[in-house]
Formats: sequence, structure tokens, C-alpha cells
Amino acid sequence: MAVVGLDIGSVAAKGVMLDEDKRHLMLVPTGWSPRDAGRQLIDSLLTKGGTESKAVERIVTTGYGKVALNYGRAASEIKCHARGIAALCPGVGTIIDIGGQDSKVIIIDDKGRVLDFAMNDKCAAGTGRFLQISATALGLDVSELGGAERADSSIPINSMCTVFAESEIIGLLAQGSDKGGIVAGLHQSVAKRVSAMVRRLGLKGKVAFTGGVAMNNGVSRALAEELGCQVLVPQDCQYTGALGAALLAREG
Ligand code: ADP
Repeated sequence: MAVVGLDIGSVAAKGVMLDEDKRHLMLVPTGWSPRDAGRQLIDSLLTKGGTESKAVERIVTTGYGKVALNYGRAASEIKCHARGIAALCPGVGTIIDIGGQDSKVIIIDDKGRVLDFAMNDKCAAGTGRFLQISATALGLDVSELGGAERADSSIPINSMCTVFAESEIIGLLAQGSDKGGIVAGLHQSVAKRVSAMVRRLGLKGKVAFTGGVAMNNGVSRALAEELGCQVLVPQDCQYTGALGAALLAREG
């Protein structure tokens, strides 16, 4: 029997289907309808796995869009990320998750149980949205930021607010500042904000970085520098919450 975990995020809806020993992954843009995105994910996962819908035993949903779904059991993102990381990276005690509209730090024990957490969902700074808006101002796609940065010539971005940071970037470009240096400054700015949350909670064990922003190796580099330790990025980092949801579904 297969189980499915759905993480309906602000930007991307992610699904993981566990079918015996096989793991199927699927991502679609959340768009305007979390409900349609959830339906689309399930249909695509079933097609991908060659599984009939009646063979799906349980579905667990998470992410901001979970409230729009009228099926499955809902679980918090915090719990799902903790469960996902405990399976992917044993020995991790501190999880940093940066998604489209929030950033979180989660402290877990060796069984993946949540001990403490902090979340920034009030302000776009320190989130994927900040990087998306900044990338657009730089004429780049968000997926190009990691490759574009020049850490050795970092230019500090002083504005905390996303809107002011966008103006600051436009001003720096107009002065002829190096694009790669501006990108490095942006990554540092995100890392500084999130590291402050880590320090507030107290760093525990190894550190793992999850969520869509973890695909940006410039941000993971800046986080490692800021925290003074190694930062592990699991494969398929954007699917960690959906994987955790699927594992919770498997547990019953
Ligand atoms: P949510 O769950 O809120 O939808 P995700 O964890 O899926 O958020 O992350 C979405 C964010 O990931 C985007 O806002 C963007 O900043 C970042 N992102 C998406 N794709 C890439 C990529 N290929 N490289 C780097 N960053 C990316």
C-alpha cells in the first residue's frame, strides 16, 4: 500500500509517494488554488508510480495550503520537517528551513521530536521571496543566484526591508557595482537574519538546511560562515516537509 505526503507551500506544492521501497517525487507551482495543486500532485504521483488511487492507504498534508484540502490528515510543517530530516540526516539537532514566505529554525532530538522552534513569517526579509524579488532586480532567475555570487567581493546590503533592498540593489547597479558582489551581500543578509534565530534558540548538534532556498549554495555557504560550522543540505531539500508528511502517513 502506498502513502502520500503533500506540502502545499506558498510558492511550490511538493508531493512524495512512498510505495513499498520506492520514493516518487513531484512538484507543481501552487498558483492561485492550493486545492487544484494538491489534486494535480496526487494525479501525477499516481501516474508516475503506476498506482491506482484506491491503493493509497493514507495521505498527510502540510504547508500553508493544507487548510484548503478536504482530504488527508493535516500535520504542522515543523513536525514534518523534523520527521523528514531525522530520516535523511541522522544526528542533526538544528534544522534551518527557508521557504517562499517564511524561515524557521527547529531544534530536534535524536528521534526527530521537536524540542523548540522559531519562525519568521512576519517579514519577507530572510525568506525566498526576498531572494526572488532581488534576483528580478538583478535581471537573474532565482536559480542563478548561487552560481552568480562572488563571495570574495561581497557588497553589504544594508536595507532590512525587501522593498528598500530592491531600491538599494537598483542604486548599486546604477553605480556600476559588481553583480556577483551584490548577490554575495544578499546571501549574507539572509544568513545573518536566520543565524540570529539559531543563536536565540541555541545551536544543537549538526545543522541541516532545507526548503527551496537550500538549493542556493551561496546561502548555505553564507550560513556556514555565519554559524562557524558545517551546514548539511540533503538531496531533494525542497521535498523534506513532504517526505516527513509521507513518513507520518506511513506510521499511521
Ligand atoms: P514554499 O514551501 O513556501 O512554497 P519552498 O520551500 O518550496 O517554499 O521554496 C521556495 C523558494 O525556493 C523560492 O521562493 C525561491 O527563493 C527558492 N528556489 C526555488 N527554486 C530554486 C532554485 N532552483 N535555486 C535556488 N532557489 C530556489
